[in-house]
Amino acid sequence: MVRVLIVDDSEIIRKQLRAFLETKKRYEVQEASDGLEAIQKLKADPDFDIIALDVEMPRLNGLETLRGISSMDLDAVCIMITSRSDFNTVIQAVRQGAYDYVTKPIDFENLLLVIDRALEKRALEKENKRLIDDLQKMNSNLTQLVRQRTKHLAEAEQKARTYANQLEKAYEELKSLDKMKGDFISLASHELRTPLVLIKGYSEILLRKRYGHMSEQVENALKIQSENIEKLSEIINEILMINNLEILENIYKEENIDINPVLVEAYESLKEFINLRNQVFKSEISEIPLIVKGNNKLLFYAVHNLLINAIKFTPDGGVIVLRSAMKNSESPSKALISVSDTGIGIPQESLEKIFTPFYEVKDIKYHSSGKFQFLSGGLGVGLSIAKNIVNQHSGRIAVESSLGKGSTFYITLPLVK
Ligand code: ADP
Repeated sequence: MVRVLIVDDSEIIRKQLRAFLETKKRYEVQEASDGLEAIQKLKADPDFDIIALDVEMPRLNGLETLRGISSMDLDAVCIMITSRSDFNTVIQAVRQGAYDYVTKPIDFENLLLVIDRALEKRALEKENKRLIDDLQKMNSNLTQLVRQRTKHLAEAEQKARTYANQLEKAYEELKSLDKMKGDFISLASHELRTPLVLIKGYSEILLRKRYGHMSEQVENALKIQSENIEKLSEIINEILMINNLEILENIYKEENIDINPVLVEAYESLKEFINLRNQVFKSEISEIPLIVKGNNKLLFYAVHNLLINAIKFTPDGGVIVLRSAMKNSESPSKALISVSDTGIGIPQESLEKIFTPFYEVKDIKYHSSGKFQFLSGGLGVGLSIAKNIVNQHSGRIAVESSLGKGSTFYITLPLVK
């Protein structure tokens, strides 16, 4: 029900209005004969929707009553009832918060329209207010959330900055330690090389019997000594090579070379050991020349290292296969070189590590002593040197292995167009 309060000093008008509204069934009507009575009524029962307010009344006129009602902060909408000539008052009333007006004599149907519009306006105002309240609430939640996130972000940034600083410091320390280690190895190897060259020279002079004859026993001892000096100098060279990539860069001279003769040369240099170990060697070298840009000494060294490993880690009687082929599936075409063996294989977890310097799958205490005997170990640098050389040639090195069954090492090199 719409609750209407009619405030008018004319009893006739009040009764007419009440009678008309009550026929419409949706209105509950109350009356007040002047402003004072209206305000008292509203104080006791503020829950009206429409207040129809006459302008000309004794004691408290329409405008004064309107002012009183406005200060009460009610939900009701005020509609003024005025005589035709009283437009000034109407304007004032609207300024003071009245919604609209009807003139006397009252056109009831028109009044109904005004009431409907007033109710609609009030409903819209309420909805607007609710929306604004919701928006304000959301806005304040959002502001709070943004403030919180900004704070978290600043904290995270601060933490990240601290970690980055710590990391940078640790990296610098590591770099300087690594340089110290490199310098030390370089220096020690150079220092070892000089006396070694002298020892080697003298033992050659002695073996050539320049300083006179010697017993067979002394000669044999000298030969063993000479062989070991050779091994020692190889080790020192390897250490120098792994430690100092610049050496590789210095001796690196580019030319177009066919990789196939380099492979043959690498195999030929190790044939003796393969025979000694009763291993079967298969050569499946491409008949088409595979021309790559590079340095044959270095490439020889890389393949040589792979073959040495194949010999070392394959039991007597095992099979070693050296292959080369053109790989057209990639652009530009590549030379694919592989060394396969039927040896002990490499555990999956070690496959990536074997290319890092000084890494060996088994503890060196399990190595056998000779250079090419089964399971004899070196320094753990052969593969890392091979990888450096291959990288230097813009190539890639990879391995596939199955424990107990064997391994295959692959080298791919870009072919010259
Ligand atoms: P090393 O001087 O010990 O041979 P490498 O760098 O050449 O050093 O090889 C590193 C390690 O990788 C070897 O110690 C060995 O454990 C493993 N490895 C390399 N090649 C093979 C292979 N063909 N079969 C089994 N293990 C291999």
